Amino acid sequence: MNKVDASVPAGQTDKATPVLAVKALRKHFPLQSGLLSRSQQVVHAVNDVSFHVDHGETLGLVGESGCGKSTVGRTILKLINPTAGSIQIDGTEIADLSRREMRPYRRRMQIIFQDPYSSLNPRMTAGDMVGEPLTVHGIASGQEKEDRIAALFQKVGLRSDQIRRFPHEFSGGQRQRIGIARALALDPKLIIADEPVSALDVSIQAQVINLLMDLQEEFGLSYLFIAHDLSVVEHISHRVAVMYLGHIVELAERRALFRTPQHPYTEALLSAVPVADPKRKRADRIILKGDVPSPVSLPSGCPFHTRCPVAVAACKSEVPALREVRPNHWAACHLR
Ligand code: SF4
Repeated sequence: MNKVDASVPAGQTDKATPVLAVKALRKHFPLQSGLLSRSQQVVHAVNDVSFHVDHGETLGLVGESGCGKSTVGRTILKLINPTAGSIQIDGTEIADLSRREMRPYRRRMQIIFQDPYSSLNPRMTAGDMVGEPLTVHGIASGQEKEDRIAALFQKVGLRSDQIRRFPHEFSGGQRQRIGIARALALDPKLIIADEPVSALDVSIQAQVINLLMDLQEEFGLSYLFIAHDLSVVEHISHRVAVMYLGHIVELAERRALFRTPQHPYTEALLSAVPVADPKRKRADRIILKGDVPSPVSLPSGCPFHTRCPVAVAACKSEVPALREVRPNHWAACHLR
Protein backbone atom coordinates (compact mmCIF):
# COMPACT_ATOMS: atom_id res chain seq x y z
CA MET A 1 0.00 0.00 0.00
CA ASN A 2 0.97 3.67 -0.36
CA LYS A 3 3.42 5.54 1.79
CA VAL A 4 2.11 8.97 2.80
CA ASP A 5 2.89 11.75 0.32
CA ALA A 6 4.03 14.80 2.34
CA SER A 7 2.26 17.09 -0.13
CA VAL A 8 -1.12 15.49 0.59
CA PRO A 9 -2.69 15.27 4.05
CA ALA A 10 -3.08 11.72 5.34
CA GLY A 11 -6.33 10.09 4.40
CA GLN A 12 -7.05 12.53 1.58
CA THR A 13 -7.95 10.73 -1.61
CA ASP A 14 -10.73 12.96 -2.89
CA LYS A 15 -9.64 15.63 -5.35
CA ALA A 16 -12.23 18.15 -4.03
CA THR A 17 -10.69 20.87 -1.87
CA PRO A 18 -11.29 20.08 1.80
CA VAL A 19 -12.45 22.77 4.23
CA LEU A 20 -9.26 22.17 6.24
CA ALA A 21 -5.99 20.56 5.14
CA VAL A 22 -3.05 20.28 7.54
CA LYS A 23 0.29 19.10 6.18
CA ALA A 24 3.40 18.22 8.21
CA LEU A 25 2.24 20.53 11.05
CA ARG A 26 4.79 20.96 13.80
CA LYS A 27 4.60 22.88 17.06
CA HIS A 28 7.62 22.90 19.35
CA PHE A 29 7.75 25.07 22.48
CA PRO A 30 11.14 26.15 23.84
CA LEU A 31 11.38 25.60 27.60
CA GLN A 32 12.73 28.37 29.81
CA SER A 33 16.33 27.46 30.56
CA GLY A 34 18.57 28.62 33.40
CA LEU A 35 20.87 31.61 32.89
CA LEU A 36 23.97 29.43 32.63
CA SER A 37 22.41 26.66 30.60
CA ARG A 38 23.83 26.33 27.07
CA SER A 39 21.23 23.98 25.67
CA GLN A 40 17.65 25.03 25.08
CA GLN A 41 15.18 22.25 25.80
CA VAL A 42 12.17 21.93 23.54
CA VAL A 43 8.69 20.43 24.07
CA HIS A 44 7.84 18.49 20.88
CA ALA A 45 4.08 18.97 21.24
CA VAL A 46 3.03 18.34 17.60
CA ASN A 47 5.25 16.44 15.18
CA ASP A 48 4.58 16.40 11.43
CA VAL A 49 0.84 15.96 11.69
CA SER A 50 -1.15 15.70 8.43
CA PHE A 51 -4.90 15.28 7.93
CA HIS A 52 -7.85 16.94 6.24
CA VAL A 53 -11.49 17.61 7.06
CA ASP A 54 -14.04 17.54 4.23
CA HIS A 55 -17.09 19.76 3.93
CA GLY A 56 -19.83 18.51 6.25
CA GLU A 57 -17.50 15.97 7.84
CA THR A 58 -16.51 15.32 11.45
CA LEU A 59 -12.95 14.18 12.06
CA GLY A 60 -12.43 12.92 15.60
CA LEU A 61 -8.96 13.59 17.02
CA VAL A 62 -8.35 11.36 20.02
CA GLY A 63 -5.55 10.60 22.41
CA GLU A 64 -4.63 10.76 26.07
CA SER A 65 -4.22 14.05 27.87
CA GLY A 66 -0.97 15.77 26.84
CA CYS A 67 -0.70 14.02 23.44
CA GLY A 68 -0.82 17.34 21.57
CA LYS A 69 -4.39 17.20 20.23
CA SER A 70 -5.50 20.53 21.77
CA THR A 71 -2.27 22.15 20.55
CA VAL A 72 -3.20 21.01 17.03
CA GLY A 73 -6.59 22.75 17.38
CA ARG A 74 -5.11 25.99 18.73
CA THR A 75 -2.42 26.04 16.07
CA ILE A 76 -4.99 25.63 13.28
CA LEU A 77 -6.91 28.60 14.69
CA LYS A 78 -3.61 30.52 14.90
CA LEU A 79 -4.17 31.14 18.61
CA ILE A 80 -0.54 29.98 18.64
CA ASN A 81 1.77 30.04 15.63
CA PRO A 82 3.00 26.78 14.10
CA THR A 83 6.73 25.99 14.15
CA ALA A 84 6.47 24.51 10.64
CA GLY A 85 3.98 23.03 8.24
CA SER A 86 0.98 24.05 6.21
CA ILE A 87 -2.59 24.91 7.23
CA GLN A 88 -5.04 25.45 4.38
CA ILE A 89 -8.60 26.70 4.73
CA ASP A 90 -10.58 26.00 1.55
CA GLY A 91 -7.25 25.68 -0.29
CA THR A 92 -5.79 28.99 1.02
CA GLU A 93 -2.58 28.82 3.03
CA ILE A 94 -2.93 30.57 6.43
CA ALA A 95 0.08 29.23 8.38
CA ASP A 96 2.16 32.39 7.83
CA LEU A 97 -0.60 35.01 7.92
CA SER A 98 -0.36 37.86 10.44
CA ARG A 99 -3.12 38.59 12.94
CA ARG A 100 -4.57 41.23 10.63
CA GLU A 101 -4.37 39.03 7.55
CA MET A 102 -6.12 36.26 9.51
CA ARG A 103 -9.21 38.39 10.19
CA PRO A 104 -11.33 37.26 7.20
CA TYR A 105 -10.49 33.61 7.97
CA ARG A 106 -11.43 33.87 11.65
CA ARG A 107 -15.08 34.06 10.66
CA ARG A 108 -14.82 30.71 8.89
CA MET A 109 -13.30 28.87 11.87
CA GLN A 110 -14.68 28.93 15.38
CA ILE A 111 -13.89 27.04 18.56
CA ILE A 112 -16.00 25.50 21.29
CA PHE A 113 -14.02 25.13 24.50
CA GLN A 114 -13.97 22.31 26.99
CA ASP A 115 -15.01 24.16 30.09
CA PRO A 116 -18.33 25.96 29.80
CA TYR A 117 -17.76 27.30 33.33
CA SER A 118 -14.61 29.29 32.62
CA SER A 119 -15.02 30.07 28.91
CA LEU A 120 -17.93 32.49 29.46
CA ASN A 121 -17.50 36.01 30.86
CA PRO A 122 -19.40 36.07 34.18
CA ARG A 123 -20.12 39.81 33.83
CA MET A 124 -21.80 39.59 30.41
CA THR A 125 -25.33 38.36 29.74
CA ALA A 126 -25.71 35.28 27.57
CA GLY A 127 -27.20 37.43 24.81
CA ASP A 128 -24.29 39.90 24.89
CA MET A 129 -21.80 37.03 24.60
CA VAL A 130 -23.58 35.47 21.64
CA GLY A 131 -23.93 38.89 19.97
CA GLU A 132 -20.36 40.07 20.62
CA PRO A 133 -18.84 38.46 17.46
CA LEU A 134 -21.54 40.17 15.37
CA THR A 135 -20.41 43.57 16.71
CA VAL A 136 -16.67 42.82 16.50
CA HIS A 137 -16.95 41.79 12.85
CA GLY A 138 -19.40 44.59 12.00
CA ILE A 139 -22.06 42.13 10.85
CA ALA A 140 -25.17 43.34 12.64
CA SER A 141 -26.31 45.95 15.15
CA GLY A 142 -29.53 47.21 16.71
CA GLN A 143 -32.70 45.24 16.07
CA GLU A 144 -31.05 43.04 13.42
CA LYS A 145 -28.50 41.92 15.99
CA GLU A 146 -31.24 41.27 18.58
CA ASP A 147 -33.15 39.18 16.05
CA ARG A 148 -30.04 37.18 15.18
CA ILE A 149 -29.29 36.51 18.84
CA ALA A 150 -32.88 35.30 19.40
CA ALA A 151 -32.62 33.01 16.35
CA LEU A 152 -29.29 31.58 17.58
CA PHE A 153 -30.77 30.92 21.03
CA GLN A 154 -33.61 29.03 19.41
CA LYS A 155 -31.22 27.00 17.22
CA VAL A 156 -29.29 25.72 20.23
CA GLY A 157 -32.39 24.96 22.32
CA LEU A 158 -32.33 27.97 24.65
CA ARG A 159 -35.36 30.18 25.32
CA SER A 160 -35.55 33.85 24.35
CA ASP A 161 -36.33 34.80 27.97
CA GLN A 162 -32.83 33.48 28.87
CA ILE A 163 -31.06 36.06 26.67
CA ARG A 164 -30.69 38.60 29.51
CA ARG A 165 -29.47 36.07 32.08
CA PHE A 166 -25.89 35.74 33.35
CA PRO A 167 -23.76 32.56 33.05
CA HIS A 168 -24.20 31.58 36.73
CA GLU A 169 -27.95 31.24 36.10
CA PHE A 170 -27.39 28.38 33.62
CA SER A 171 -26.54 24.70 34.04
CA GLY A 172 -23.33 23.25 32.54
CA GLY A 173 -25.14 21.90 29.47
CA GLN A 174 -26.92 25.23 28.92
CA ARG A 175 -23.61 27.10 29.18
CA GLN A 176 -22.15 24.86 26.51
CA ARG A 177 -25.19 25.70 24.35
CA ILE A 178 -24.33 29.41 24.83
CA GLY A 179 -20.77 28.61 23.66
CA ILE A 180 -22.16 26.81 20.61
CA ALA A 181 -24.51 29.73 19.78
CA ARG A 182 -21.57 32.13 20.02
CA ALA A 183 -19.51 29.90 17.72
CA LEU A 184 -22.40 29.79 15.22
CA ALA A 185 -22.95 33.57 15.20
CA LEU A 186 -20.45 34.20 12.40
CA ASP A 187 -21.82 31.42 10.20
CA PRO A 188 -18.56 29.43 10.23
CA LYS A 189 -17.68 26.50 7.98
CA LEU A 190 -15.39 24.75 10.45
CA ILE A 191 -15.81 24.35 14.19
CA ILE A 192 -12.98 23.06 16.33
CA ALA A 193 -14.64 21.44 19.32
CA ASP A 194 -11.98 20.98 22.00
CA GLU A 195 -13.27 18.38 24.49
CA PRO A 196 -16.71 20.05 24.29
CA VAL A 197 -18.54 17.55 26.52
CA SER A 198 -15.89 16.18 28.86
CA ALA A 199 -16.87 18.57 31.68
CA LEU A 200 -20.56 17.56 31.45
CA ASP A 201 -22.59 14.74 33.03
CA VAL A 202 -22.99 11.71 30.76
CA SER A 203 -26.73 12.33 30.23
CA ILE A 204 -26.05 15.93 29.20
CA GLN A 205 -23.14 14.86 26.95
CA ALA A 206 -25.54 12.97 24.66
CA GLN A 207 -27.82 16.03 24.35
CA VAL A 208 -24.94 18.32 23.36
CA ILE A 209 -23.53 15.75 20.90
CA ASN A 210 -26.96 15.34 19.30
CA LEU A 211 -27.31 19.13 19.06
CA LEU A 212 -23.92 19.35 17.29
CA MET A 213 -24.97 16.61 14.86
CA ASP A 214 -28.30 18.36 14.12
CA LEU A 215 -26.51 21.67 13.51
CA GLN A 216 -24.04 19.94 11.20
CA GLU A 217 -26.88 18.58 9.12
CA GLU A 218 -28.71 21.92 9.01
CA PHE A 219 -25.73 24.16 8.24
CA GLY A 220 -23.32 21.73 6.50
CA LEU A 221 -20.73 22.35 9.22
CA SER A 222 -17.39 20.57 9.44
CA TYR A 223 -16.03 19.61 12.85
CA LEU A 224 -12.60 18.79 14.16
CA PHE A 225 -13.79 17.05 17.31
CA ILE A 226 -11.01 16.76 19.87
CA ALA A 227 -11.57 14.30 22.73
CA HIS A 228 -9.89 11.77 24.99
CA ASP A 229 -13.09 9.71 25.23
CA LEU A 230 -13.31 7.19 22.38
CA SER A 231 -16.97 6.38 23.01
CA VAL A 232 -17.91 10.05 22.45
CA VAL A 233 -15.82 10.17 19.27
CA GLU A 234 -17.38 6.94 17.98
CA HIS A 235 -20.83 8.49 18.12
CA ILE A 236 -20.14 11.74 16.25
CA SER A 237 -17.16 11.14 13.90
CA HIS A 238 -17.09 10.09 10.25
CA ARG A 239 -13.34 9.43 10.47
CA VAL A 240 -11.03 9.22 13.46
CA ALA A 241 -7.35 10.13 13.90
CA VAL A 242 -5.46 8.75 16.92
CA MET A 243 -2.60 10.78 18.41
CA TYR A 244 0.28 9.63 20.59
CA LEU A 245 3.13 11.88 21.73
CA GLY A 246 2.38 14.53 19.12
CA HIS A 247 2.15 12.05 16.20
CA ILE A 248 -0.87 10.70 14.34
CA VAL A 249 -0.46 6.94 14.63
CA GLU A 250 -3.70 5.84 12.96
CA LEU A 251 -6.38 7.47 10.79
CA ALA A 252 -9.39 5.69 9.33
CA GLU A 253 -13.10 5.73 8.71
CA ARG A 254 -14.84 5.36 12.07
CA ARG A 255 -16.19 1.82 11.67
CA ALA A 256 -12.91 0.48 10.30
CA LEU A 257 -10.95 2.02 13.14
CA PHE A 258 -13.24 0.66 15.86
CA ARG A 259 -13.73 -2.80 14.32
CA THR A 260 -10.29 -3.47 12.87
CA PRO A 261 -7.73 -1.18 14.51
CA GLN A 262 -4.29 -1.47 12.90
CA HIS A 263 -2.05 0.24 15.46
CA PRO A 264 -1.17 -1.38 18.82
CA TYR A 265 -1.84 1.91 20.64
CA THR A 266 -5.36 2.16 19.18
CA GLU A 267 -5.95 -1.49 20.15
CA ALA A 268 -4.96 -0.67 23.73
CA LEU A 269 -7.21 2.41 23.87
CA LEU A 270 -10.14 0.47 22.43
CA SER A 271 -9.69 -2.42 24.83
CA ALA A 272 -10.67 -0.05 27.65
CA VAL A 273 -13.91 1.14 25.99
CA PRO A 274 -17.26 -0.61 26.57
CA VAL A 275 -18.51 -2.25 23.34
CA ALA A 276 -21.74 -0.74 21.99
CA ASP A 277 -21.39 -2.00 18.40
CA PRO A 278 -22.59 -5.67 18.14
CA LYS A 279 -20.22 -6.24 15.20
CA ARG A 280 -17.20 -5.24 17.26
CA LYS A 281 -15.49 -7.98 19.26
CA ARG A 282 -14.80 -7.37 22.92
CA ALA A 283 -11.01 -7.36 23.09
CA ASP A 284 -9.11 -8.43 26.19
CA ARG A 285 -8.06 -5.40 28.17
CA ILE A 286 -4.53 -4.33 27.21
CA ILE A 287 -2.73 -2.61 30.06
CA LEU A 288 0.16 -0.55 28.73
CA LYS A 289 3.35 -0.66 30.75
CA GLY A 290 5.07 2.51 31.94
CA ASP A 291 4.11 6.12 31.45
CA VAL A 292 3.90 8.25 28.33
CA PRO A 293 7.48 9.53 27.71
CA SER A 294 8.20 13.24 28.04
CA PRO A 295 7.64 15.27 24.87
CA VAL A 296 10.90 17.04 25.78
CA SER A 297 12.95 13.95 24.92
CA LEU A 298 11.03 11.84 22.42
CA PRO A 299 12.02 8.17 22.14
CA SER A 300 14.10 7.19 19.12
CA GLY A 301 12.39 5.20 16.35
CA CYS A 302 8.68 4.58 16.90
CA PRO A 303 7.38 7.02 19.55
CA PHE A 304 5.31 4.17 21.04
CA HIS A 305 8.13 1.60 21.31
CA THR A 306 8.76 2.12 25.05
CA ARG A 307 5.22 0.90 25.83
CA CYS A 308 4.29 -1.22 22.83
CA PRO A 309 3.44 -4.85 23.77
CA VAL A 310 4.54 -6.17 20.33
CA ALA A 311 7.63 -4.03 19.62
CA VAL A 312 10.48 -5.59 17.61
CA ALA A 313 14.13 -4.55 17.39
CA ALA A 314 13.62 -2.19 14.42
CA CYS A 315 11.07 -0.18 16.42
CA LYS A 316 13.83 1.36 18.56
CA SER A 317 15.70 2.87 15.65
CA GLU A 318 13.39 3.28 12.67
CA VAL A 319 10.52 5.75 12.63
CA PRO A 320 7.46 4.09 11.05
CA ALA A 321 5.80 6.21 8.34
CA LEU A 322 2.04 6.74 8.37
CA ARG A 323 1.11 4.38 5.51
CA GLU A 324 -2.14 3.36 3.87
CA VAL A 325 -2.22 -0.22 5.17
CA ARG A 326 -5.76 -0.88 3.91
CA PRO A 327 -7.85 1.25 1.56
CA ASN A 328 -8.38 4.62 3.32
CA HIS A 329 -6.92 3.19 6.53
CA TRP A 330 -3.59 4.66 7.63
CA ALA A 331 -1.29 3.43 10.37
CA ALA A 332 2.28 4.13 11.50
CA CYS A 333 3.59 0.73 12.53
CA HIS A 334 6.38 -1.48 11.15
CA LEU A 335 4.25 -4.59 11.65
CA ARG A 336 1.41 -3.50 9.29
FE1 SF4 B 1 4.82 -1.15 18.22
FE2 SF4 B 1 6.91 -1.20 16.59
FE3 SF4 B 1 4.47 -0.83 15.60
FE4 SF4 B 1 5.67 1.08 17.01
S1 SF4 B 1 6.33 0.28 15.05
S2 SF4 B 1 3.58 0.42 17.20
S3 SF4 B 1 6.75 -0.11 18.54
S4 SF4 B 1 5.23 -2.67 16.66
